[in-house]
Amino acid sequence: MSHAASSFSLPPNIISSRRRRRRVNNNNNNSSSLSNNKNNSIEKTTLKSSIIITPRASSSSDKMTSKQTTIGFLGAGIMAVPMALNLINNGNHNLIVWNRTASACDPLVKAGATLAKTAQEVCEKADVTYVMVSTPEATLEVATLAKDGVSDGKGYVDCSTVDRHTAQKVSEMITSKGGRYLEGPVSGSKAPAENGQLIFLCAGSESLFKEINADDANQLNKMGKASFFLGEEVGAGANMKLIVNSCMGSIMASFAESIALCEDASLSKQDLLDVLALGAINVPMFGMKGPGMIASDKNTKFAPAFPLKHQQKDMRLAVQLADELGRELPVAAAANEMYKRARRDGHDDEDFAAVLHAVRRE
Ligand code: NAP
Repeated sequence: MSHAASSFSLPPNIISSRRRRRRVNNNNNNSSSLSNNKNNSIEKTTLKSSIIITPRASSSSDKMTSKQTTIGFLGAGIMAVPMALNLINNGNHNLIVWNRTASACDPLVKAGATLAKTAQEVCEKADVTYVMVSTPEATLEVATLAKDGVSDGKGYVDCSTVDRHTAQKVSEMITSKGGRYLEGPVSGSKAPAENGQLIFLCAGSESLFKEINADDANQLNKMGKASFFLGEEVGAGANMKLIVNSCMGSIMASFAESIALCEDASLSKQDLLDVLALGAINVPMFGMKGPGMIASDKNTKFAPAFPLKHQQKDMRLAVQLADELGRELPVAAAANEMYKRARRDGHDDEDFAAVLHAVRRE
């Protein structure tokens, strides 16, 4: 997950030419090829067999040209609410929503969504249902409640960050009812979710992936800036997401250690941020989280964009994945211990920057 709200170009060398993978880039700000498009028109450009670039349409023309679809949304947390709002505000969709705690859906209902009584009702009424809940246990519980509403051809896109075994179990639950399943965990946090800048890491039903990426679908391209199709084998999306987040969690833990060491050495923490920002190891996350972290003390409560309990869940699942594949993961495993300590000390619901509390001498 990147916490960068701004768009950036992926270097061409990470775009695989393998046929089974697809990257759909939905942001006209981050493709040099688009700047060559004189009309900047809403046409799909195929650069290689594996890359499709679709410029973002304006909201008003989106509304006129989008297919009217009933979309379901299960979950109403930090990520689900802005994702669903982007579907309501930027496409010609009817949105039907459900959350375990119904009141969390209030902002969506205010924006025009219909509140369903059950998760099953959402799947019965929607053509495609998105899910964004916290943990593997939550995603299994929601799928159990929703699955009887799924019937032939319906789409079920689970964006929660889970392990591949959970994704495979949910896939089985949905496809056994005749539905199409796509895992679509996202890289990007609260601000990218608000700004429609998420990166979707998808695997499963390719027909569903293509459908929700179609020019006039106004779905993934309204919630994100790029979508990767990693193959039909369910679990590839979960694995990629865990790999990305273990990298991010390790970097954040190391960053927190550097801030604490700077304090011990009586050095200016602002100088540390400035030095990091100028060099090759600059990371957008340092610029976003750093100022709040260096200004904090032992009483600071870090307002959550990405709750620390979810970062630790992702570290645990990444370490578990490495275990299953017979790979040592010493850096991520050590970082996981730091997040566990922060959880033990009561920082579950704060932003994952609160890992700083676990390394400071307090
Ligand atoms: P959140 O704010 O904690 O929201 C969690 C959601 O899950 C709520 O809707 C909650 O319902 C629901 N839920 C929890 N347990 C449940 C259960 N047993 N049954 C049914 N629903 C349950 O989480 P979030 O930050 O939006 O994250 C959602 C997912 O996205 C997580 O997998 C996270 O790792 C991933 N993610 C988060 C970020 C981020 O920056 N926040 C970025 C990328 C990916 P209630 O309202 O009833 O509690």
